[in-house]
Parts: sequence; C-alpha cells; structure tokens
Amino acid sequence: MRLIFLGPPGAGKGTQASRVATILDVPHISTGAMLRDHIADGTDLGRQAAERMEAGDLVPDDLVIAMLTDRIAGEDAVPGFILDGFPRNLAQARALRASPGGVVDRVVLLIVDESEIVRRISGRRCCSRGHTFHLDDQPPARPGVCDVDGDPLEQRPDDSEEVVRNRLAVYGRETEPLIGYYEELGLIVEIKASGPIPHITKQILEAVRA
Ligand code: ADP
Repeated sequence: MRLIFLGPPGAGKGTQASRVATILDVPHISTGAMLRDHIADGTDLGRQAAERMEAGDLVPDDLVIAMLTDRIAGEDAVPGFILDGFPRNLAQARALRASPGGVVDRVVLLIVDESEIVRRISGRRCCSRGHTFHLDDQPPARPGVCDVDGDPLEQRPDDSEEVVRNRLAVYGRETEPLIGYYEELGLIVEIKASGPIPHITKQILEAVRA
C-alpha cells in the first residue's frame, strides 16, 4: 500500500507513520528525518538544507524531489511506503505523481487544533537518531534518556516557539493547498488526530483498509 500522511507540524505524522508502517510492513519515509541524517553526516545536501530547516522554511524542491524519488525507487519500497513530510507543496505533489511508483492509494489527513499543536511540539523531545517522545503523552522510561538507544533527549532545534510559528505559516501557505489537490483525486481520508496514540493508529488502519 502506498500512503501519504498529510497534516500540520505536530499532528503526529511521524509517530503514526512509524506505527502504521510497522503494521503494514512497508518503509516509513520521512523527508525531514532523511534531511536531518544528511546534516548529521555532513553531506553536500545537508549543507544546502541546514539553514532553511533551522528557519522552518522549505528546502528547495529540486533537492527534496531528487532525494525522495531516489528513495522510493529502492527495492524495499516496491511493496509500498508511507510518506511523512512529502509532498509539501503542489510542485512536489505533481513531481511525485509523475515519477515511477509515485501514484498513491490514499492520503491520510491528520486533523488537530492549533492549541494542541503547540502543546505537542513544546513537549516533544528527540534523541540524535530521531526517536521521539513527549513529556506528557509518551514519556521515556527514564527522564531525558531515549528508551531505544540510551542517548540523551533534546528539543529539536526547529521546535522553538518562533520557528514553530513560521513552520505553521509555511504549512498554511504551501502545504494546505494539497488538500484540495488530493480531494479532487478522491484520495483523502480524514482522521481526527487527538486522543490516545493507539486509538488514532486503529482509526487510520480502518480507513486505509476500507
Ligand atoms: P514537521 O512535519 O514536524 O514540520 P519534518 O521533520 O517533516 O517536521 O521537517 C522538518 C524540516 O525539514 C521542514 O521544516 C523543512 O525545512 C524540511 N523538509 C522536510 N520535508 C521537506 C519537503 N518535502 N520539502 C521541503 N522541505 C522539507
């Protein structure tokens, strides 16, 4: 199954995409995580992306589209995939649809209130390998320590209040128009993304299997 998870920053795309991908046995492909890996590895792409990411602006389309189409051409993506954080504007959506294997089965739109978004992002803590927790909703077993690899947990640099505000504005301007684009294609399923994490996962699975 090929799915796109769409929704504002803090909607829980990463958390849900990871859970659903495990259950459906398809790769969870997060362009944000891929770009953070490039920065950590000091690649050319990482150097080109870093400044824009720190400011909460989009990384240029040509870079992200090349990275993503390359990734979905991988052997493990043949049975399907879940895209988290891509596409983020119409140019990316059109490029995806035109690329081999880029026609998706469903677009899962996660709906949350803006006050909930702020609460989620301000409580979010991650380790350097991208494992994500929340101080209230998904606390690690030991405070400040990643359950998976024991690394320290920190706030993502772009989760500061000022940058979050810009990310929300960029979402409204660039990404929200994708809802209409995918509605016209008949692909959108809407999920209310508040409440317990496992309950939301169940709703998503029911919707995409229907
Ligand atoms: P969130 O969904 O919480 O905003 P992500 O991890 O998906 O966080 O993205 C972090 C940053 O990575 C974005 O603010 C942007 O700078 C960059 N990025 C990720 N995906 C894309 C994309 N498809 N196009 C352009 N920039 C992207």
